[in-house]
Amino acid sequence: MGVRVVSVEGRLWRLIRPDAIYVWREERVRRKLEWYYRVMNNRAPAKFMLAKKVPAETDPRDLATDELWHLHSDLRREFSTMLHSVRSNGLTLDEYHKLDTPKHSFLDVKIEILRRTLSSCELCEWRCRVNRDVKVGVCRLGRESYVTTYFLHVGEEAPLVPSGTIFYGSCNFRCVFCQNYDISQLNPFTGIKAGPKELATIEEYLRLEGARNINHVGGEPTPNVHNIVASFKYLNVNVPQLWNSNMYMTPKTLELLSDLIDIWLPDFKYGNDTCALRLSAVRRYYEVITRNLRSICESGDPIIIRHLVLPNHFECCTKPVLEWISENCRNALINIMDQYRPEFWVSLNPKRYPDIARRLRRDEINTAYEHADKLGLDYREVS
Ligand code: SF4
Repeated sequence: MGVRVVSVEGRLWRLIRPDAIYVWREERVRRKLEWYYRVMNNRAPAKFMLAKKVPAETDPRDLATDELWHLHSDLRREFSTMLHSVRSNGLTLDEYHKLDTPKHSFLDVKIEILRRTLSSCELCEWRCRVNRDVKVGVCRLGRESYVTTYFLHVGEEAPLVPSGTIFYGSCNFRCVFCQNYDISQLNPFTGIKAGPKELATIEEYLRLEGARNINHVGGEPTPNVHNIVASFKYLNVNVPQLWNSNMYMTPKTLELLSDLIDIWLPDFKYGNDTCALRLSAVRRYYEVITRNLRSICESGDPIIIRHLVLPNHFECCTKPVLEWISENCRNALINIMDQYRPEFWVSLNPKRYPDIARRLRRDEINTAYEHADKLGLDYREVS
């Protein structure tokens, strides 16, 4: 598959997705996604732009790794104060551009830590500990990223459309029903090799074309986080950064990333580890995903949680997922997705996966909606 670049001319997306306009009339959407809304409309600088303005006294490349983490912790406090002040008191882009740009910044510290992490990679919970300059781990990626396509996506949730979506090749999951199996599992190294500068060029292009956000997706963006974060150094247009992910990252990766992401779009697929192991070949799924989601939910960052309803998985997955969100993440909007279709290995070998070898029935998605209603979850705006 080659690189596909699709532009939605002018305002055409407004005809295709009028709900992307109307959704902002919903008070709950405006309230829950407030920070994203402000950055989207250039009424506040994105978090990655603020991170560039927090000075680091020392060149991060001169520090030992444990010193770097200490510096990161110190600068994180300064960054939080700055972010809190911007959220409370406002900061226009004009005012932002008048701030001094330090020689070395909080963002540079993150870039350097991530660069070193690849020497014994623990970006995600596989913790392969391979040196990605010479070996590959489960994600099969070295230091380079592969962008298989990028375009203005009009099929995402209404508050996100048009979404400047960048699809990265390869994945750290092996979902047997993957809808993007061509780029995530079969041909992960097609498209263009993209380092930080190339990614920044793509991000800038998408924003100038009218993207409301930059949507990092795959495959899976997490194994590419070092290049994505480094791209922010070269990106000089204001745009919300969106993380569209399976969220199977380590706490350290989440710590590095969470100061830079303006809106989260995580998948919450399974309500237990048995289904996760059988259908996505990952261990400790429930513990890892709930740990990471809890951290984001507690931060108060804008978040839209996606749950793809699978046939015959209401009791084991949909029900516990919705109940966990209800108990732990009331600030989330939820997309309860009904578009499951048996793809990839499931379509090739339906007898092996009889539970999910068909599309969803209407009564199954209605059962999911009824349960969400019973729990008082906000899903109608984005489902
Ligand atoms: S990103 Fe995850 S899967 Fe890839 S090498 Fe690192 S720890 Fe392994």
